[in-house]
Amino acid sequence: MSHLAPIVPSFAELLLNPKLLEALSREGYTSPTPIQAQAIPKLLEGRDLLGLAQTGTGKTAAFLLPILHRLAANRRPAAPRCANVLILAPTRELASQIDQSIAAYGRNLGMTHTVVFGGVSQFHQVAAMRRGVDFLVATPGRLLDLVNQGHIDLSKTHVLVLDEADHMLDMGFVKPIRQTVALMPTDRQTLLFSATMPEAIAALASSLLRNPARVEVTPPATMVEKIGQSVMFTDAKDKLTLLKMLVKPAEVSRAIIFTLTKNTANKVAEALTLAGSPAEAIHGNKSQGQRERALAGFKSGAVRVLVATDIASRGIDVDDISHVFNYDLPNIAESYVHRIGRTARAGRKGLAVTLCEPEHRAWLHAIERTIGQAVPVEMNHPYHSEAARLSTMKPPVLGGGGRNQGRQAPRQAPRQNTAKGAPRTQSRKPR
Ligand code: AMP
Repeated sequence: MSHLAPIVPSFAELLLNPKLLEALSREGYTSPTPIQAQAIPKLLEGRDLLGLAQTGTGKTAAFLLPILHRLAANRRPAAPRCANVLILAPTRELASQIDQSIAAYGRNLGMTHTVVFGGVSQFHQVAAMRRGVDFLVATPGRLLDLVNQGHIDLSKTHVLVLDEADHMLDMGFVKPIRQTVALMPTDRQTLLFSATMPEAIAALASSLLRNPARVEVTPPATMVEKIGQSVMFTDAKDKLTLLKMLVKPAEVSRAIIFTLTKNTANKVAEALTLAGSPAEAIHGNKSQGQRERALAGFKSGAVRVLVATDIASRGIDVDDISHVFNYDLPNIAESYVHRIGRTARAGRKGLAVTLCEPEHRAWLHAIERTIGQAVPVEMNHPYHSEAARLSTMKPPVLGGGGRNQGRQAPRQAPRQNTAKGAPRTQSRKPR
């Protein structure tokens, strides 16, 4: 990642609290990632920040470390039902992972923290907030719910982080976000992270941030370099058979398979399981318990194969993923980078294999334009389709109501609901 930051200072040179440095060495972090090197000094000064970065760049530590540092230096016990720091995230998975990161980085600082999201009983969340916390991580819908019921008071929250702001907007959270911010002090420190910068995010940022420092990391090129990519052209009817063949070998030690829809995720997981490669599906229709069990099994190695839709997979942070399979191509080029970035974490090598059917050929072109390279074609398999390789078919029109993100097919939300034949209702709840 050195091309993004010519001289990377060490964590100690960033003058972080020694207790944080100890926690970082325990995590095995030797030097800051580019976004950390850029963001930490500005955040230590107390500045607002606009961060253009996506998951996999180390952005969580980029905002948590300076916040932890400043809070430790100026300890104010949280008042009942209050939180010193509020972090908003689009999904339960991402919120939970941020909460785990607070526990890991703040392990020597005795910070209190809790996480609040929908889809589960509010009982424990209310109890956890009763005495107040240093850090509250929340999805916007449930947070506002608890605020409106009088269980959470944001009037003393002096740091606000909006993580994956573009996805929160895609999921229809702009109103709850604005309502939430209106309840907070105006002299707070505000950080906004987003992987993309559509107009709606720029507008949100300019209304919430005061003279923000701007940091930007563009991981695609570096990340993509470490990942062995290939595309296999095949007909739609052969995809499942080909996939079963691809996940069989023992070197596929831990794999994520991406599908466009929840139905396909279920279908693929069932078919793989029947074929002797036990797989779990994870998507927005699964209960919180099912998702947690699937993820825990995947992390522990009990389940070798996870089948996921794009939104459900956001924020899943599992190391040692040997393979990413795109069973369906994503219709948004950036999603391809997100997906394949699940492998090759922490400098390791990974493989990303994409199955491309004729109808999705145009999406592959758009992805290649975004990553600035052609994805190598693997023809040495029994289901190669020359028709798919040469296809000029129009890609399917997926749903409506989304914004055009510029580079590719119109973005629709939520993505996994809008493929042909799938319901078009949009869930406003955290997934
Ligand atoms: P994030 O972009 O915050 O989701 O982080 C992506 C992954 O990078 C997580 O697994 C972090 O634990 C890891 N990570 C974050 N910062 C560093 C660092 N400085 N050195 C090594 N790994 C890191």
